[in-house]
Amino acid sequence: MNMNMQFIDLAAQQHRIKSKIDERIQAVLSHGNYIMGPEVAELEKQLAAFCGSPFALGCANGTDALQLALMALDVGPGDAVFCPSFTFASTAEVVPPMGATPIFVDVLEDSYNLDPASLLRAIAHAKDLGLKPTGVIPVDLFGLPADYDTIEQIAADHKLWIISDSAQGFGATYRGRTTGSIGTIATTSFFPAKPLGCYGDGGAIFTADPELCARLESFRVHGKGTHKYDNERIGLNSRLDTLQAAILLEKLAIYADEIEARQKVAARYSAALHNHVITPIVPDDCRSVWAQYTVRVRAGQDRAAFMSHLTATGVPCVVYYPRPLHQQTAYSPFPADPEGLAVSERLAQTVFSIPMHPYLSEGDQDIVIEAIQKASSAS
Ligand SMILES: *Cc1c(COP(=O)(O)O)cnc(C)c1O
Repeated sequence: MNMNMQFIDLAAQQHRIKSKIDERIQAVLSHGNYIMGPEVAELEKQLAAFCGSPFALGCANGTDALQLALMALDVGPGDAVFCPSFTFASTAEVVPPMGATPIFVDVLEDSYNLDPASLLRAIAHAKDLGLKPTGVIPVDLFGLPADYDTIEQIAADHKLWIISDSAQGFGATYRGRTTGSIGTIATTSFFPAKPLGCYGDGGAIFTADPELCARLESFRVHGKGTHKYDNERIGLNSRLDTLQAAILLEKLAIYADEIEARQKVAARYSAALHNHVITPIVPDDCRSVWAQYTVRVRAGQDRAAFMSHLTATGVPCVVYYPRPLHQQTAYSPFPADPEGLAVSERLAQTVFSIPMHPYLSEGDQDIVIEAIQKASSAS
């Protein structure tokens, strides 16, 4: 038995491309352009091509990417920004510092993604509160694209912009489109454990709008104007390091292949596990990049018992996320869908994620599968 099974195995990937990464790092050390060196522009070009977005900009992390997007869209006091509650904190964290109000929206039980009906209720609620509905931040949770056709229709009807938070979903497919190219602005994160991660913090922002791109470029470097010491606006220092861009160039080169490998792991899991736990769905014409493979226990099944059985068998498992944002101390004062967020609350009680990465061997997959099958017959 492999008692060292990794939840996400970054070492296996590094082993595959070690010499190329070493060469890339050496090239940066040789030219010495550590800030905005040539690798940054090269990566931006390749990221844009990968997802089919006209513009891509590197930045310091996925949270800054969201923050910069809000700055470029001129979000401010009185604005209501709709966020799912079942997500990582960054999605909503960036809204209050702009003076705007996050309003929490529920998610769909089968996809874990933003519920359009809840969004409509939250828009009406924002108006009742005297706030101006200005935008929505759908999340591609666990690597699966949100239901963009429906969200885009609602956004058009209510004149909302869309920031697609694709920190977990860059490169996923939604009905012929690739995430990164969806939304008024799309953002991603290169945190090491994300599907496309670097060796530190990193992020990127995507848009098809040249004016927004110019604003984002300015905000990313202290609100710069035509030159460095010309400050047109209040910005951030949020550049992607040249070294991280160099590493990402080699990781992006194998990313399509890794996405394929993730499909195989997910397909094997789903076939073997769907009779034992509630397995994740992927809607027609969509492809997840499987940032996580997240299952739910059935009514009557005990998640804690399930997870301790897995851990005892050497299978790492994690709960993403144990508490929805609207129930967190920092976010509970903000408004939410007035009908409540029952699905987000239920998911927080029933989900858990199992090992998922492109290098998970069939042998390790079988250990995971067997552990879940045993835990399910015991519960
Ligand atoms: C990881 C993550 C972020 C933030 O990315 P960082 O690079 O860690 O700042 C934002 N949104 C979601 C949904 C994430 O999972």
